[in-house]
Amino acid sequence: MTKRNVILILILMTCSLGASATAQSTHVHGQGQVSMAIDQNLLSMTLESPGADIIGFEHEARTAEEKAAVREALKQLSDPMFVIQLPESASCKVIQASSEVASENGDEGHADHEDHESEAHGSFIAEYQLACANIAVIDFITFVYFGHFRNAQSLMVVLIDKNGQHRHEINRDIPILFLEK
Ligand SMILES: [Zn+2]
Repeated sequence: MTKRNVILILILMTCSLGASATAQSTHVHGQGQVSMAIDQNLLSMTLESPGADIIGFEHEARTAEEKAAVREALKQLSDPMFVIQLPESASCKVIQASSEVASENGDEGHADHEDHESEAHGSFIAEYQLACANIAVIDFITFVYFGHFRNAQSLMVVLIDKNGQHRHEINRDIPILFLEK
């Protein structure tokens, strides 16, 4: 085994450890989670974002205005093109897309917001699957998400592709996920 291979394996191991550490239900306001898998011609993705990032609140919608905000966000998130931008030349077609609100109990590990511990912490979850005729041309994916949701600051991305599993953090300053070839 060459020295380069050893280093590569160490990097992959570090990536995997980092990814499993985030696999829990806590959320941090401003920070969403993305799981993305690229396999053959399929791009699958799950986005989970705190309600605070998407609509600015996390309690159950009470007023007509709040309910409308939830409905609108669900509609927006049900379109993957509202979240990511892919090069036209990749010829991607949406084959599955859904969005939902998931609420967690206030006592479930929300160390970051003691101020509203008794309230539910709503998160938005969106799932997408796209089939891309020319997936190999995708060098990077732009998250237009940040342009649409002003409170969103960063996304922790776990990407699984032919190179293995990698963890990336992208943010509103550089909202781009670069794919390794
Ligand atoms: Zn919260």
